[in-house]
Amino acid sequence: MFEFLKKKLKPNLSQWEFEKLLLQADVAKEIAEKISKEHKNPKKALRKVLEKNTAINLEETLKKTEKPCKILFLGPNGAGKTTTIAKVAKKLHEKGYSSIFAAADTFRAASIEQLREHAKELGINTIEQDYGADPAAVAFDAIKSAKANNVDCVFIDTAGRQETNKNLIHQLKKIVKVTEPDLKIYVDEATVGNTILSRARKFKQEVGIDAAILTKMDLDVKGGSTLSLIEEGIPVAFYGTGQEYQDLKEVKSEELEKRILEGKK
Ligand code: GDP
Repeated sequence: MFEFLKKKLKPNLSQWEFEKLLLQADVAKEIAEKISKEHKNPKKALRKVLEKNTAINLEETLKKTEKPCKILFLGPNGAGKTTTIAKVAKKLHEKGYSSIFAAADTFRAASIEQLREHAKELGINTIEQDYGADPAAVAFDAIKSAKANNVDCVFIDTAGRQETNKNLIHQLKKIVKVTEPDLKIYVDEATVGNTILSRARKFKQEVGIDAAILTKMDLDVKGGSTLSLIEEGIPVAFYGTGQEYQDLKEVKSEELEKRILEGKK
């Protein structure tokens, strides 16, 4: 993914040359301006950003939180939230953790069925109500059910909110207040490039984000979204790399550094 940057990085670029390169790699403008200040040693500048990625460890979180662990998924519409929930649940199942889905996207047509389909495939229960129901109530029911059935983890799917939609953001805040999630995971597609910063920032300001999962990394992406989010203080925990359940890759900062700095694939 960092092919583009890797090819063009050389020492002693001018600040503008480095900034231009970052912009071409889809880094958000203000982040590119910030990073490019260290233009004399661009590799070091990028390493400094990547080192800030304090990836979350899902299993550790599960172990240290009181059962059930509540994971809230949020982010814009169509970014791959539902698919990603299924991928993460499968990963945890393979490690012996049980889960339950809360179909708290009661807004978008077909979202409940979509989550239910994944759940069926994975042998997971879904707690749902009708469209238009209060999503916080659905999530609350799921937590109650998890407690009653000794389930390890509750995955809360939420309606894809455009960051500008006040009503949906208000609803999201209510879900957070009612469920008190142990993790708030922002899911967005890496393909949106430099606009990811403004999208994610709004969610971060309104409800907080513990980590991000960037989807569609299998499509043509230049790495800018990863750099923008990390520099904004949003760790990138996983990449979605396709449409199958196994297409979820843990992000390890050292690997990213190697890829970008040493030209390793
Ligand atoms: P949601 O609206 O955020 O819940 O998004 P969905 O989970 O419905 O995903 C939207 C589309 O993106 C679906 O067609 C998914 O199969 C696809 N998708 C999700 N993750 C990935 C990924 O990592 N790579 C690719 N190529 N497609 C993905």
